[in-house]
Amino acid sequence: MTRSTPERPLDIEAVIPELSGHRGTGTRLHPRPGSPVPEESSVGGPLLWPADEPWPTCTVPHKRRFGDRVADVRRRRRILAEAWSRPSTRGQPSGPTEEELRILDTLRRGRHAPWLGDTDPIPLMPIAQLYARDVPGLGLPDDADLLQVLWCPFNAHGEDRNVDVHLFRRRAADVTEVLAEQPELEVAGRDDYVPDLCVLHPEKVVEHQYGGLLPFPIRARLDEWQDWEDENAVSYQFDLSIPPGWKIGGFASWHVTGPQAVICECGREMDLLLTMDSREWDRGTRSWVPSEDQDVVDTEANTPTWIVVGRGGSLLVFVCPSDWDHPHRVVLQ
Ligand SMILES: [Zn+2]
Ligand SMILES: [Zn+2]
Repeated sequence: MTRSTPERPLDIEAVIPELSGHRGTGTRLHPRPGSPVPEESSVGGPLLWPADEPWPTCTVPHKRRFGDRVADVRRRRRILAEAWSRPSTRGQPSGPTEEELRILDTLRRGRHAPWLGDTDPIPLMPIAQLYARDVPGLGLPDDADLLQVLWCPFNAHGEDRNVDVHLFRRRAADVTEVLAEQPELEVAGRDDYVPDLCVLHPEKVVEHQYGGLLPFPIRARLDEWQDWEDENAVSYQFDLSIPPGWKIGGFASWHVTGPQAVICECGREMDLLLTMDSREWDRGTRSWVPSEDQDVVDTEANTPTWIVVGRGGSLLVFVCPSDWDHPHRVVLQ
């Protein structure tokens, strides 16, 4: 099923024509639970990984013994999904049974990999695989047509003590034999960093620059236009500028820290490549709920990947516009 973003509740360029100079496009990825294969774009894999190429690992010094067993995380989600999908009958409400609660109680965080030293290589976890044919605006350099995003799911890397995001790009046609047994990490630092498998429904959308980055005269006019009294009024930030959810390209939303310059080591301002969002919509951003999801708007359908970053924010990955081999940067919002 495709996913279609409803038309914006109003045409802000008709109100403030100068905003047309601050229009852009992004591609919403709309991940939804599914069973992707390596030849498809996905969240969570499996990846089109060459059988003769070593699976990437994390060797950055940090503790990797303690956390959630990945298998437990998947089992817990499966049990809960089943439990809450059962209809309630008289005397038997839906939700976990005694037996299920007993099992859930055993799936705890712990020192599940005591044999691992702080620099022992652990396999990276597949997060996203994007084929250029599926994702308009992916814009991979050279003749690459496939982007693979993996991470090490521990809050232990870099100054920000974040997950460690790794990007790989390749030509799909170069992969003649796909790695059949893809290594799976035993323990993740947080269960929130373990994605559920999703297929993607990419959709190109029009956006407008983040409010705080607009020229002052336009901001002043937006301030004047915005009805600050009525909390149900159309809002530039929530309804008209940048869609929530996973996306490729478009503008960065700086709603947590305020605008930041993201500068490459070569001095250039970096481009937003990928946004990984904890939610595809929330109460403030319901106008972006795809038409096909209107029936499930009040369910957990807004958290299809189960990935939660920060305190329910988003993780932005930036790349250098002149050379993708310059180190990418990751910013939490
Ligand atoms: Zn690591
Ligand atoms: Zn650069």
